[in-house]
Amino acid sequence: MTEIRIGIVGYGKIAEDQHVPAIAGNPAFTLAAIASRHAHPDLGVPTFHDPDEMLRSVELDAVAICTPPGPRHAITQLCLSSGLHVLMEKPPCLTLGEVADLAARAKAVNRTLFATWHSRFNDTVEAAAKITHAEGVATMDIQWLEDVDTWHPGQDWIWERGGFGVFDPGINALSIATLLCPDPLLVRKSDLRMEKQGHQPEGVVLKLATGGVEEGIGARFEWRYRGTEQWTIDLTTKAGTKIALSKGGAVLRVNDGPERQALRGEYPGLYARFAELIAAGESDVDVAPLRVVADALLAGERVLA
Ligand code: NAP
Repeated sequence: MTEIRIGIVGYGKIAEDQHVPAIAGNPAFTLAAIASRHAHPDLGVPTFHDPDEMLRSVELDAVAICTPPGPRHAITQLCLSSGLHVLMEKPPCLTLGEVADLAARAKAVNRTLFATWHSRFNDTVEAAAKITHAEGVATMDIQWLEDVDTWHPGQDWIWERGGFGVFDPGINALSIATLLCPDPLLVRKSDLRMEKQGHQPEGVVLKLATGGVEEGIGARFEWRYRGTEQWTIDLTTKAGTKIALSKGGAVLRVNDGPERQALRGEYPGLYARFAELIAAGESDVDVAPLRVVADALLAGERVLA
C-alpha cells in the first residue's frame, strides 16, 4: 500500500491522546505535519500556525481535522480543494447543510471524506448492532452522565456558539444509538437545561421513537453529574434479547451472559477504516447522529440552569 502522508489540523486533547498514537500505529499512514494556532509539539514533523501555510509548505495526501466543529467546514473545504482526503472528528460540522456541502465537494473532486464517529469503532458496538438489525428495537434507555470539569477543563469553546454543550459527549451515544436502530431515530420531546450563558445545554432529556415504537425509548445527557459517571445504553429487542452496552460502548452484555470487552481501540479502528476508504476511492458521511441533535434543538423546550 502506498504510504499516506497525513497532517493534523488543531492540536488539542484528542489529537494528542488519540490521533497521534493511532497514526503512529498504522503503517498505512505517516504523520507529516501539524497546523495549530498555539500548540507546536515536538513530534519531529514541521508545525505551522494555520492549515493554509501547512498546505503550501508540505506535500500531503490526507488531513485529520481535530479542531472543534465550528471552523471545520472552512478548513475541510480548503483541504478538499487542495486535493487532500479528509478525516473529520465528531461532530462533523456546525450544521447539516455544511456537511451536505462538503460531501458534494468531496465527490466533485474525487477525494475521500470521512465523518468519523469514534464510539462506533468498538467491536462490541458492531456485535450489538448485528443483533438489533436482526431483531428490531423494542426499548432503549441511554444514560450519559458525566462531570464536564473532569473531561473538558479550560475548554471554553464547548459553551460557545457551535460548541454543542452536553451534546458534545451526547452525540457519541447518539452515534451508537443510530447505528443500533434499523430505522431513523425521531425526537418526540426534548427538554434542554441551558448553561448560564444560554448558548448550549448542560442537561438534556429526550423522548425518542423509532420504527413505529413510541414508548420506552429515551436518553438523558448530564454534564454536571457529581455521582459515579455512567455511559450506558440498555436495550431490549423485539425478540426479547437484552443488550447492555456500558463504558461508552466498550463493554457488551447480552442477556445475563458474561461481559465482553472491546478488543480493538476506537481510534486504531477508525484509521484502519480511513485507509480502506482512501484505497477504495469512497467516502463515509453519515449525518444521522447530528440530525438527532439538530432535531432536539429544533423541538427543544429550554430552561436556564
Ligand atoms: P481541544 O483540546 O480544545 O483542542 C482543539 C484544538 O483545535 C485546540 O487545541 C485548538 O488549537 C484548535 N482550534 C480551536 N479553535 C480553532 C479554530 N477556530 N481554528 C483552528 N483551530 C482551532 O478540544 P478536543 O477535546 O481535542 O476536541 C476537538 C474535537 O474532538 C471536538 O470536536 C471534540 O468533540 C472531539 N473529540 C474530543 C474528545 C475528547 O475526549 N476530548 C474525544 C473524541 C472527540 P490551537 O488553539 O492551537 O489552534
